[in-house]
Amino acid sequence: MSSYDVVIIGGGPGGYNAAIRAGQLGLKVACVEGRDTLGGTCLNVGCMPSKALLHASELYEAAVGGEFATLGIEVTPTLNLPQMMKQKDDSVGALTKGIEFLFRKNKVEWIKGWGRLNGVGKVSVTQADGTQRELSAKDIVIATGSEPTPLPGVTIDNTRILDSTGALSLPEVPKHLVVIGAGVIGLELGSVWRRLGSQVTVVEYLDRICPGLDDETARTLQRTLTKQGMSFKLATKVTGAKASAKGVTLSLEPAAGGTSEELKADYVLVAIGRRPYTEGLGLETVGITPDKRGMLDNQQHRSGVPGIWVIGDVTSGPMLAHKAEDEAIACIERIAGHAAEVNYGVIPGVIYTKPEVATVGQSEEQLKAQGRAYKVGKFPFTANSRAKINHEAEGFVKVLADERTDQILGVHIIGPSAGELIGEYCVAMEFSASAEDIALICHPHPTRSEALRQAAMNVHGWAMQA
Ligand code: FAD
Ligand code: NAD
Repeated sequence: MSSYDVVIIGGGPGGYNAAIRAGQLGLKVACVEGRDTLGGTCLNVGCMPSKALLHASELYEAAVGGEFATLGIEVTPTLNLPQMMKQKDDSVGALTKGIEFLFRKNKVEWIKGWGRLNGVGKVSVTQADGTQRELSAKDIVIATGSEPTPLPGVTIDNTRILDSTGALSLPEVPKHLVVIGAGVIGLELGSVWRRLGSQVTVVEYLDRICPGLDDETARTLQRTLTKQGMSFKLATKVTGAKASAKGVTLSLEPAAGGTSEELKADYVLVAIGRRPYTEGLGLETVGITPDKRGMLDNQQHRSGVPGIWVIGDVTSGPMLAHKAEDEAIACIERIAGHAAEVNYGVIPGVIYTKPEVATVGQSEEQLKAQGRAYKVGKFPFTANSRAKINHEAEGFVKVLADERTDQILGVHIIGPSAGELIGEYCVAMEFSASAEDIALICHPHPTRSEALRQAAMNVHGWAMQA
């Protein structure tokens, strides 16, 4: 039996950040990860490979679709899909190795194998060669992440019917890709394959895309993606799928019921959400019962069983890598006896389409539901000189501020580099800034960040450049 201060089960953004922080604080720490590489969903089959393909496909489309020609750059591009996949895999390999380096640097022991709780304070690990290893620890952190939610009647085979992992490694460009679910994964990976030449149809159960996203922003995104050639079938349910060697035939029905129709595709991507992953984790040995959605409950990262903590996708909150990272830090600080807090009100979300969507804080719909009086300041990128000169002037910045105190309550950006721009408002909101604070801060010219300032000015109706 090897003993530790902390054993972390799972080596994704929750687990690896927890392990590194524990090492930094001088705790004796082991991280159990069953995959061949560290980094979890995010590095291996999530954030990073998807962004590699989004970046490469965006440049390809700029070259093939006339954007380069507009700038006076004449090229005749050819798609080399194996090389596009290779550069993605090479980058992923380098990033996962980077976590191994950080583990060595911070004296974190990586125990390669699948961990199982074996009573409070104990973890049994089944190693790759089948041998068992027993660990004991004062504190155990569950960071086992999530997996794609299956859709009854549409069985994933990762040959024709894909989950996100399959859609990140297709051997050819689909002629017709049907995406089930107009959420983040569907729109990002749908964008990748559309840019590379696929006809893409997105089938969504609800009557809107991206539930939870500020309505106006979601409508603008749908309009833009439609203009780019993506088609949407909203308020539609998929009732079955027949896969053959050549493709898939889906049966669709209006969500409210009615006449069914068929939709043929050569590939189908199922992206209807993710669910917590706790298979074989031995939760019953410590008396933890997941809720109806398979989620592990937590109170400030405590599971309810002394010495067992939960962070990341396996517990409540948005399933985002930076949320898992924040929880990792706070959880380990608490284990070490320090004060720590995660501010769930300021966790940004980004959709890496073109244009990008970035959002933090509350949407107009949420504020209305709370009956909170607020003001709106909007500024379009068509009036931002840098966006205009770069021919990327679609979208806007929208700032929502309390009507009485002017405190910033929510920010929604659709436009170029929105994911980078939102950081300024995250800082502002952490410091309880007012819209006027941002309006009075000097921003460099010419940058897209000037749109952030102009939108803040417009909360009080004095944007000067639109
Ligand atoms: P995970 O990253 O899922 O890691 C859990 C790890 O635990 C896994 O490696 C698993 O093998 C291991 N494990 C599970 N059970 C055991 C066990 N019993 N023993 C040992 N090991 C175990 N989020 C963003 O913020 N930005 C993005 O751009 C983004 N893009 C995404 C794109 C895609 C296609 C997908 C699928 C997800 C994306 N996400 C993104 C979400 C992000 O990947 C997750 O929120 C994040 O990885 C959650 O981290 P985690 O540590 O909780 O879990
Ligand atoms: P999602 O929750 O973002 O979207 C799922 C979509 O599928 C929703 O629009 C939902 O209404 C729809 N849906 C649900 N059931 C359906 C059905 N039966 N038929 C048709 N549509 C249905 O989930 P996702 O896109 O699978 O992503 C999973 C998680 O991964 C998300 O929580 C997200 O936060 C994370 N992720 C984040 C990023 C990012 O931050 N850029 C990228 C990818 C994934």
